[in-house]
Amino acid sequence: MALRLYNTLTRKKEPFQPIDAGNVRMYVCGPTVYDFAHIGNARPVIVFDVLFRLLRHLYGPEHVTYVRNITDVDDKINARAAQDYPNLPLNEAIRRVTEKTEQQFHDDVAALGCLTPTVEPRATEHIAAMKEMIDGLVANGCAYVAEDHVLFDVAAMPDYGKLSGRSLDEMIAGARVEVAPYKRDPMDFVLWKPSKPGEPSWTSPAGIVAPGRPGWHIECSAMSWKHLGETFDIHGGGIDLVFPHHENEIAQSRCAFHTPVMANYWLHNGFLQVEGEKMAKSLGNFVTIHELLTQRKFGNQPWHGRVVRLAMLSTQYRQPLDWTVDRLAQARSTLIEWAEFLRDAPSGDQLDSEFVSALEDDLNAPSAMTVLYGWANGARRRSVPDVKRLKAAARFLAVYDNERPADFAVGYEVTSMDKADVDMKIAQRHAARKAKDFKEADRIRDELAAMGIELKDAKDPKTGELVTTWEVAR
Ligand code: AMP
Ligand code: ZN
Repeated sequence: MALRLYNTLTRKKEPFQPIDAGNVRMYVCGPTVYDFAHIGNARPVIVFDVLFRLLRHLYGPEHVTYVRNITDVDDKINARAAQDYPNLPLNEAIRRVTEKTEQQFHDDVAALGCLTPTVEPRATEHIAAMKEMIDGLVANGCAYVAEDHVLFDVAAMPDYGKLSGRSLDEMIAGARVEVAPYKRDPMDFVLWKPSKPGEPSWTSPAGIVAPGRPGWHIECSAMSWKHLGETFDIHGGGIDLVFPHHENEIAQSRCAFHTPVMANYWLHNGFLQVEGEKMAKSLGNFVTIHELLTQRKFGNQPWHGRVVRLAMLSTQYRQPLDWTVDRLAQARSTLIEWAEFLRDAPSGDQLDSEFVSALEDDLNAPSAMTVLYGWANGARRRSVPDVKRLKAAARFLAVYDNERPADFAVGYEVTSMDKADVDMKIAQRHAARKAKDFKEADRIRDELAAMGIELKDAKDPKTGELVTTWEVAR
């Protein structure tokens, strides 16, 4: 099978054909660095990391360029800086907020097993490119200046709305567009705007005297242009970015460069919700990646990064994903068991074609996982080829990298359901010992140890019977 990807632009699954197989180019919208990333933000990072790995496998690691930007100029950043560092000059406060947040983001996504993209451009380092595009758009009549703003004139772009599949009327009705007196049309969007005193500012394009700063959409058009060219292969992000962000990126880039497309394939991940509800600070179910990995914020325990990653890949990327404690607990049990098979086992050096084919079908991670579960069955029966295949594929997906079973049990809290399970296993172990099957008794003890449960054997002083107590290993 060859790689097929669902393209939002055509609403079809299409065979993937790169413009240049010697340099396959992908751009994904990255974080705005003002606060910890939440678990919804982790979804595109992991999904496009899997695609990056697959492209590297298919075309060779040196033939893939993956660009994920860092948005370090934004009103939300300014607000956070003023709030957190009220006594510092705003620019210094902004530098602190963006540096700290960028570091947090990198630590978080590294713990989730994600590779570093080829380039991580920062918006503030591409202001010249943005201004060059803006000047070009004004010069060719696709943008205009009004009250120190530069606005994109959507009437100049007949294809506007094609990505999101909406007509102009629908967009006006549905979107919360900012109506401003200086706009010719309510749908026109900002390419450049004036800065207030003290805010980050640069000399403006288009002959505007007042200093200003770029709008959000032009940042991605400029950074993708500088690092991937006027037209490239894949553009990705969450489904909420289709409109207006990606629609506007397309309008800017195509009109600036007179090209029929900005990127050939537009990929969008579905949204993550928490235990059946939209995640929102106001609902109290808002969880950051950092909290999930290090605190007792979700399911009253921290979770290992690879457990989070496996749970994230248990649903196909375009589907909505319900983020639940159950899903994480299942992923953890799977990895604890796999670690027992895989820890000291040799890895196969070739990826199995059945596994690769599943991923080539629009990144069908759940069906790739089904292939892995089949090998895990073989591994349970001590099939060496299955262990090798499982190890190679699990490492490729970065859901396993030589961890010990107990690594996945960090901070493991025993629920009442688990308690019954532990007691049942202890009873089975006693039965095995009585039957003098010490091998089986040891196996059960090891299995519990892998869950982070330590057994203590003692003799009842009165009856002489073996009594086993247990606790969670710390
Ligand atoms: P933002 O910080 O809102 O700009 O989002 C950064 C990235 O995370 C974008 O690609 C969003 O589409 C994506 N994203 C935000 N919230 C969610 C969510 N709940 N589920 C999946 N993706 C999300
Ligand atoms: Zn973007």
